[in-house]
Amino acid sequence: MIYKISILVVLAIVYTSAEYVSYDNYKVYKLQPKTEEQVELLRKLQHTKGYSFWTLFDYVKVDREVRIMLESKNEREFENYMKSVGLDATKTVEDVQSLIDAQLKRPQNVGRNILEYDWTYYPNLEEVEEWMNKTAERHPNVVTLLDIGRSIEGRPIRGIKIDYKKRDKPVMGVLEGTLHAREWITTVTLTWLANEFLNSKDENVRFLAENIVWHIFPVTNPDGFVYTFTDDRMWRKNRNPSNFTSCVASNVRDDLSNGVDLNRNFGFLWMTVGASQNPCAQTFAGQTAFSEPESRALANYVLDLKNQGELLYYMAFHSYSQMILVPYSHTAGANVLEVPNYADLFEIAIKGAEKLTAVHNIPYQVGTSADILYEVSGSGFDWVKGEAKVPIVHLFELRDLGQYGFLLPPEQIIPNNEEVMAAILEMDRVTRKIGYYSPVSDSGYTLKINALLLIAAVMFGFV
Ligand SMILES: [Zn+2]
Repeated sequence: MIYKISILVVLAIVYTSAEYVSYDNYKVYKLQPKTEEQVELLRKLQHTKGYSFWTLFDYVKVDREVRIMLESKNEREFENYMKSVGLDATKTVEDVQSLIDAQLKRPQNVGRNILEYDWTYYPNLEEVEEWMNKTAERHPNVVTLLDIGRSIEGRPIRGIKIDYKKRDKPVMGVLEGTLHAREWITTVTLTWLANEFLNSKDENVRFLAENIVWHIFPVTNPDGFVYTFTDDRMWRKNRNPSNFTSCVASNVRDDLSNGVDLNRNFGFLWMTVGASQNPCAQTFAGQTAFSEPESRALANYVLDLKNQGELLYYMAFHSYSQMILVPYSHTAGANVLEVPNYADLFEIAIKGAEKLTAVHNIPYQVGTSADILYEVSGSGFDWVKGEAKVPIVHLFELRDLGQYGFLLPPEQIIPNNEEVMAAILEMDRVTRKIGYYSPVSDSGYTLKINALLLIAAVMFGFV
C-alpha cells in the first residue's frame, strides 16, 4: 500500500513538473504610482495571489512605470481597485500566452542544418549547443568550444572562443548571456555577435573580431533556460532545489523557491542591497556568496583568463529596459566614483548608446543601476569589476521598455542585434581612443606610412 502511494506521489510530481505553465488570457497592465501611499499599495499587491509583477520589487517607486501581470479572473477587481486608489492602469497585453506562443513558433523545415539558422526564431538549449558545435567545425582554426563547469542539474556551461591569433599576448573579452533564464533575447544576441565576428565582411566588425579574443557564453544558466521551455516561460533563477520551502506566505507558487538569482549570488558586497534572503523571492541571493555552481564557474573562468593575457572587456547581457549599465550597481550620485575609471566607462557607454539609437531609433539610457534602475548587489558584472578588476565592464539591458518585456517578438531579434553590434563597435573605438589598447596591425601599418612620408619629405627637402 505504501509502495502504491509512493508511486502515485512520484507520478503526481512528474506529471506536475512536466506541464508547461499556461498564461492563457493573462493580462498585463502598466501604471505609474504618484505617491508613496500608492507605492505601498502596489508593494502589497505583489504579495497577493493571482498577481505577478514583471517589474522587480525594488523598482516600484514614485513616478516609475510598473508592469503587472494578472489572471483574467482578477481583471475586473484589479481595475476597480486601481480606480478607487486613483491609479490610472492601462492594459498593454490582452493575452500573455499568445506572446509566448509567438516566441515558441518555428518556421517550417527548420532543424535540418542548424548553420542555416537565421535569427528569425528563438532556439532552445539543444539548438544553441548544436549551433556552437557546427560553428566550431566550420571554423576549426578560429573557434574553440568552451566548457567551464556544470550547472546544479549537471548541464555543461558552454561557450565558444573566437581567436584569430593576431597578438602574442591576447587582449580578451567575455560576453555573458542568459544568466536570467527568461531573457531569451540575450541568447540570440550573443550567437549573432559570434556569427558576425566569424562571417561579416564589414571592416569595422573584422577589426573588432580579430583584435580581441572573444569568449562568448550565450547561456550561462542552462537549467533555468531549459525550464523556460519545458515548464515556465517566466522563470528567472537557476534550478537549485535545496532551499525548497513553502511559499504560501509570499503568495507565489512553491516552485519559486527552487532557484537562486544568479545575478545576486556573486561575491562582491553580496546581500547588501537589492537582494533577498527569502527563497520565494525572484531576487533570492542564495545561502552564501557563490553558493551556486553557475556563478562559481563564471567567476573562476574570469580569474583563469586574467592569467592567460589581458582581459579587457566584460559585457553582461540582460533584458529588458534599454540601458547600458556601468558598475557599481549599488552606487548613485557622487558615489559612482568608487569605480576608479568610472568616467571612461560612462563615456564609452554613452557614445555606444548614441550609435545604438542611430540604427533603429531605439532610445537607451546610461548610468549605474542604482541611478537609473534599482540598487543591486552581488551581480556578476559588479564582481568582475570590483574583485577581478577587469578594466572595461558594462551590462546591457536589451529591448524593450515593457510592451512585450521578456516576450519580445521574434521579428525584433535582428533589429536588436544590429543596434547592439553598432554599440559595441563604437564602445571599442572609444576604448581604444582613450588608450586602453592599440591595434596590432593598424599601428604597424601607420608607422610604415609615416616613415615613408618622412623619407620622402627629407628627400624633397634636399632636392
Ligand atoms: Zn536579467
